[in-house]
Amino acid sequence: MTPPCPIEALEPFEAFSAALAELSRLAEARFTTPTPREQPFVAPAAALDRALVVLPDELPEHGLGLSRTTRVLLDDVAPALNPGQAGSRYFGFVTGGVLPSAAVADQLVTILDANVQVHLPTETVATLVEVHALKLTLSLLSLPVQRWTGTVTTGATSSNVLALACGRDAVLKRAMAARGHADWDMAEDGLADAPAVTVYVALPHASIKKAAAIVGIGRARVVDLGQRVSVADSATAEQLARARAAALDFDLDALEVRLAADSAAKQGAIVVVGMSEVNTGALAAQTPALRQLCDRYGAWLHIDAAFGAFASLVPGFEWVAEHLNLADSITSDAHKQLNVPYDCGLLFVQRHSPTAHHSPLDELCGPGRGSAPAYLAAPPKEEGEGSTDPVLAARREYLGALPSPLFRNIENSRRFRALPLYAVLLSQGREGFRELVLRNVAFARRLEAWLRAEPCFDVLTPQCDAPKPDVSGPQPWCGAWGYTIVLFAASSEAPTCFRGEGGGARLAQAIKDTQLVYMSATVWGGQRAVRAAISNWSTGTGSEDLDFTVTTEALRTVMRKAASSAVA
Ligand SMILES: *Cc1c(COP(=O)(O)O)cnc(C)c1O
Repeated sequence: MTPPCPIEALEPFEAFSAALAELSRLAEARFTTPTPREQPFVAPAAALDRALVVLPDELPEHGLGLSRTTRVLLDDVAPALNPGQAGSRYFGFVTGGVLPSAAVADQLVTILDANVQVHLPTETVATLVEVHALKLTLSLLSLPVQRWTGTVTTGATSSNVLALACGRDAVLKRAMAARGHADWDMAEDGLADAPAVTVYVALPHASIKKAAAIVGIGRARVVDLGQRVSVADSATAEQLARARAAALDFDLDALEVRLAADSAAKQGAIVVVGMSEVNTGALAAQTPALRQLCDRYGAWLHIDAAFGAFASLVPGFEWVAEHLNLADSITSDAHKQLNVPYDCGLLFVQRHSPTAHHSPLDELCGPGRGSAPAYLAAPPKEEGEGSTDPVLAARREYLGALPSPLFRNIENSRRFRALPLYAVLLSQGREGFRELVLRNVAFARRLEAWLRAEPCFDVLTPQCDAPKPDVSGPQPWCGAWGYTIVLFAASSEAPTCFRGEGGGARLAQAIKDTQLVYMSATVWGGQRAVRAAISNWSTGTGSEDLDFTVTTEALRTVMRKAASSAVA
């Protein structure tokens, strides 16, 4: 008896082709009728309820096959997803969206099952494209490629995990050398004899604690040294906003005391700078001073610039690139501001020298003193295939010398997620991304100005003037606030506005309920608030200012409703 074929192989190619055609129609709807009615921000309750009931939760003994599975995906799963989150008025979290070129590249990766793993220079250009994508991203960020190397991760969180691990190893190496163990190596010898490492932060992203937990530093050793400013009960809203915002800046004196103590105790220290805080969009402007302290006391300097790195494209914010360039490691995300589909994160680490590909990342993830498993080793170099074309010969040599991607990341095999990144960089170019970021910033700042003028709303970040284009250094307040996030609450002083604890989850829910725009709830300085993060490539591109008009109309509607229910 012949063994049965896999069930999908029995179906004609037409079934696959028909499924792809349906996807294509879905894509067309996404790009041509991107209104929340067709592309809701949250799945309709009926679709969610239906999915809860009808989605199979048992492994079928006899598989459904392609056609019936496609029906499950398109009829039962898809309506219960939230396609609006890739749209122009989804301002939740920092979600970005998907540029069409990235969508094409991503389909290509899926159809070819393309991965990046062992460096096979005579078999595939995957490694080369990943390296190109990283180089192009460095160029977009105005960072010198001779100084930086990196990898493409699943997101900023995994980049932070790798960065803290690199930092941990570097500072522990120093600490152990000071204790007389010159050859000690964390990646090799492990935690058993290692002294403590402390991570210093000022209002960091939550993923820093997660990373500290994962790499054996410990969440309790993440110490917040943000400035504490107390305000009088009679403080104005602006004074309160400034006092709360001070928590985003390090108390440099306190930090120096701690770093000096760690150094004297022959322990390790890592300083993490937030270059785009998720509630406020604040861009830390203290990096030069932090670099000096880190150099003085042998600490590692990491910058988490998940979406803020791209602020350097905005006139007046060029200093962001200069500050990034002072770090030992940089986290960013392509699946946020660059509008590449999930998942695509970025990690950059300083090279050991301008001519070396290697960095602490390779010591962390490489085979170390051992050797790579034979089946993952790069194939031996072929002799005698030298090209007579000197350009081609040089390129081949360059390609052959690239480090193996599996030795600079957590994963061995990984999705070729560099391809969508490469695609958007080629498609948009520097000018295209500058325009995209500027449009996001302009929308956010215009929304802020509108909210400040509306008596029913309080903007919770300090006020600032437009950045002055002729000033190249960091511009306090303006430099720090003029990015893509807007943080606000219902005014406490206007009695007919949203009242009670309406600043946070209830207000955010009322905004979502309009189905015209999506924003998320947060808490800032103890106050419930709402934040709008502008990061989609298409925001503000529609006709006649549609996105802005609809957004402000939705906010007005929420307040009118609140007012009428307050009267009733
Ligand atoms: C979004 C974000 C993260 C987490 O990124 P993921 O890609 O979701 O893992 C970390 N830090 C900052 C500053 C962020 O904005």
